[in-house]
Amino acid sequence: MSKKIVILGAGITGLVAAWRLASKGFDVEVVEKQPLGGGIGGSINHGDFIIDHGIHGVYASRLETIPVVEEMVRTFGQDFLTVEKKTSIYFNGQYLKYPLGVKEIFQALPITTSVKCSMDFVSARLKKRLWGSSDGESFQEWVEDRFGPRLYQIYFGPYVEKVWGIPGSQMSSLWLARRVEELSLISVLKRAILGLLVPSYRDNEMRSLQPLTFLYAPKGSGQYTERVRQAAENAGARISYETEVTRLIMDGRRVTGAEIRKGDFREIRPLDFFISTIPLPSLVKMLESIADSETMDAARKLRYRALVFVNLFINRSQVYRDQWVYYSDPAIPFIRVNEYTNLGPKFSPPGQTVLQCEVSCFTGDDIWSASDQYLAEICLASLENLGLVNRDEVFHSTVARQSTAYPVFDVGCEAKLKRVLGFTDKLEEVFTLGRQGRFEYINMDECVWQATACYAEIAHREEQGP
Ligand SMILES: Cc1cc2nc3c(=O)[nH]c(=O)nc-3n(C[C@H](O)[C@H](O)[C@H](O)COP(=O)(O)OP(=O)(O)OC[C@H]3O[C@@H](n4cnc5c(N)ncnc54)[C@H](O)[C@@H]3O)c2cc1C
Repeated sequence: MSKKIVILGAGITGLVAAWRLASKGFDVEVVEKQPLGGGIGGSINHGDFIIDHGIHGVYASRLETIPVVEEMVRTFGQDFLTVEKKTSIYFNGQYLKYPLGVKEIFQALPITTSVKCSMDFVSARLKKRLWGSSDGESFQEWVEDRFGPRLYQIYFGPYVEKVWGIPGSQMSSLWLARRVEELSLISVLKRAILGLLVPSYRDNEMRSLQPLTFLYAPKGSGQYTERVRQAAENAGARISYETEVTRLIMDGRRVTGAEIRKGDFREIRPLDFFISTIPLPSLVKMLESIADSETMDAARKLRYRALVFVNLFINRSQVYRDQWVYYSDPAIPFIRVNEYTNLGPKFSPPGQTVLQCEVSCFTGDDIWSASDQYLAEICLASLENLGLVNRDEVFHSTVARQSTAYPVFDVGCEAKLKRVLGFTDKLEEVFTLGRQGRFEYINMDECVWQATACYAEIAHREEQGP
């Protein structure tokens, strides 16, 4: 008889695991609490407008994921569009093309500030060289150690606080180890300063730091996750929506069953393997009966930053030329604006476009709890102030909320994460995977990669036998 596997969560991680395991003959059930699958990678289309939870390009974000990305594109994405990446940063009242060139960065700053920043940078380098320094624990220390305090105050400090909701002094330098756009910006700035001091540093060299194109499903990211869902179901996996796991049945450190609930219906599912892709703190809560208090406490302290997506529908064919634009100014409510129309001709109906403003917050705070009308109004007022949109062009708005958009890497979180993963990873025949499951700042390619590795491990254990 085939072994039973319960997978929690039907985001890309859970769906890829389900597809691979069901294709290998395992008896797979995916339990998803929402009425639809796809997770953050799913779409929130409106009428003929294609909209996702933020723009979701498909690409390999590191060398190891290239083979799985190629396989996924071969299997699910033959018709994916190749999009030339166009992005900007609004900084100091100007739009700078991204990736940045030396000229653009210093163009945006008064010359005296540019010179002072460069002197700060040289002095920081000298200090580091003469006295050495340990890498600072906080993001602020990390940046100031490399660039001096001025650039931190001008750019990084306000931006980090706006995105993450905590000051850079409380943000761990650990998140810099994640491959994030901000990290590229740091290396770009470093080269920019070097470029100012050493003219032989060419702009072209810096522009080539970022991938210039990415792939996109023609009907949005949700089309990609939907195709994986279909393949998983075709292979025999069952997906139960609006369903939750209320309790795990334990035999020592092994999970032998899961109590699932859909409305008033409850049932215990016996299982051989258990895969969780839901937020790590939620999984630990289910394991309360066997977790020690320190692990429980550490899990409770792992926080996620939430995003509110405010979509403004506009009677104009295009507002930006870019697909997305960053806003670091704390006076502007959004951290980024996405324009899906600029991904391809069929993303919006002719003559119309949609701007998606990403507003970061914590669940339960004033932004998270604000009415949709209020959120649309603050974003619209800000776009008007920026001279981008007129109020009478906007004919509709929608709002979507994502409670676990980004894991927050505050100072000390590394030890907490180690404690929690140390506990979950020791459970028998239990796997916790994906962006939420491992509390990692990862992209879809890395989720697919983790799901594939989990599949290979389970298949290997089965081949080895008891
Ligand atoms: C704004 C933004 C932009 C991004 N852009 C890109 C990009 O351009 N390219 C890229 O590759 N990646 C991008 N990412 C990252 C990408 O979205 C994630 O890496 C990926 O979607 C995570 O998939 P997942 O399955 O691990 O988690 P999720 O998608 O979060 O899926 C988890 C699932 O578990 C379900 N769930 C939660 N709790 C329970 C429960 N108790 N019981 C049952 N089910 C539960 C959820 O409803 C959800 O469906 C972006 C992320 C964000 C936030």
